[in-house]
Amino acid sequence: MKEIVNKQRTFFNTHATKNIQFRRKQLKTLQQALKQNEAAMHEAIYKDFKKSEFDNYSTEISLLYKDIKEARINVFKWARRKNVSTGILNFPASSFIIPEPLGVCLVIGAWNYPYQLSLAPVIAAIAAGNTVVLKPSELPSHTAALMAKIVKEHFDPSFFTVIEGGVDETQELLKQKFNKIFFTGSSKVGKIVYKAAAENLTPVTLELGGKSPAIVTENCNLKISVKRLVWGKFLNAGQTCIAPDYVLVHKSIEKKFLEQTKQEIISQHFAYENDNYLQIINNRNFERLTEMIDSKKIYFGGETNPDTRYIQPTVMQHVTLDDAVMQEEIFGPILPVIPYDTIEEAISIVNSLPKPLSCYVFTKSDSVKKKVLKEISFGGGAINDTVMHITNSNLPFGGVGHSGMGNYHGEAGFKAFTHYKSVMDKPTWLDPSIRYYPHTPFRLKLMRWLLRL
Ligand code: NAD
Repeated sequence: MKEIVNKQRTFFNTHATKNIQFRRKQLKTLQQALKQNEAAMHEAIYKDFKKSEFDNYSTEISLLYKDIKEARINVFKWARRKNVSTGILNFPASSFIIPEPLGVCLVIGAWNYPYQLSLAPVIAAIAAGNTVVLKPSELPSHTAALMAKIVKEHFDPSFFTVIEGGVDETQELLKQKFNKIFFTGSSKVGKIVYKAAAENLTPVTLELGGKSPAIVTENCNLKISVKRLVWGKFLNAGQTCIAPDYVLVHKSIEKKFLEQTKQEIISQHFAYENDNYLQIINNRNFERLTEMIDSKKIYFGGETNPDTRYIQPTVMQHVTLDDAVMQEEIFGPILPVIPYDTIEEAISIVNSLPKPLSCYVFTKSDSVKKKVLKEISFGGGAINDTVMHITNSNLPFGGVGHSGMGNYHGEAGFKAFTHYKSVMDKPTWLDPSIRYYPHTPFRLKLMRWLLRL
């Protein structure tokens, strides 16, 4: 690993990656490599957790193509030196900011959207002019092996390489000196990464998780709200970092909400084992999830099959904050429903838990929208929808507090892998003596007049 990092550093020091055309060419190579391997990518992810071609294309591969396209179009603009004003104090200087790549970057991916979560940060890192070591999650072993193969076939390892492995390999990687670490995963491992990065004062972006709430008010469009909520929750069998984790629903519509949710699960074909509904990633997560289901509180679902790691979409009612399902991020197809009386109560429940990665509110009321946005701190979110905000690359994507630090997507991704070097350029034909010794009362007066603060 040391050798790989050294080779990348040597290559970075040639300044080849600072050339914008070089970056665009590498992005094009990545796009072509993905295009050539699309069929193999579908096959691998289906083997890992039964993800369908439709889901793989719509939630992983198409997002990568979009990122590459946007980065290739915008990288000239993003990487351009920007002039800024200087002010009278430094007249006649000029000031500017040069976006410069950080260097050798480590990207550590999570398993739940294995292609997208591994390669989207890589695209941003390449666009910003860095070299990259990617460590995808080991849990979806077929997708991890395929990404390693594709990258090996198309890229020089001194520019971009994949290292496969689990905890031991990641710990070993974390001992190396990187110029940036971009981590996606749990808050628990995020702390390990942050500590390791501190040893070398390496900047980090931490894309973590948490319990993302959905608040459903009494005056929402119930049919559309439930449809969008059910889709966002059970997509990827609930294994989505920004899935609504639990629902707070106004007491007056709780019954209708539950009934509508059940109907929607059935009509969106989530309710039974089929080729569009994913498996749970592994036995450990299957057991963790089945232990969360309190059979006395099941409103709908609850069926499980350990052989196929299938968990039926399960809606739980009469849930309280003390239930097992409310103690940690669910990250699976279980939807706890908690009734509330007033919007203040709903907000205080959300605020009693760590700051979430996402927050959703379903309402027609402008005052409720305003109140939620003002009083709840969260990474990002949507009004009257779930999950879809991630598809708008003009919205920086990331958490706050326990759900992460830093963000990416679009220009935010470029910024995550860039240092903004600030420079003042001063000619020598004028050199006012005011700042030099000796300081006199007159000069102080003049200084006050010039600054006028
Ligand atoms: P994880 O933290 O278990 O693993 C993430 C990565 O860290 C993997 O590559 C893994 O190999 C490595 N790792 C695991 N244990 C380690 C250790 N002890 N030392 C060093 N490295 C270690 O997370 P996960 O199970 O892959 O993903 C689930 C979590 O990720 C959820 O909390 C979810 O919300 C979060 N997530 C966040 C986002 C986001 O964009 N914010 C996206 C997807 C998932």
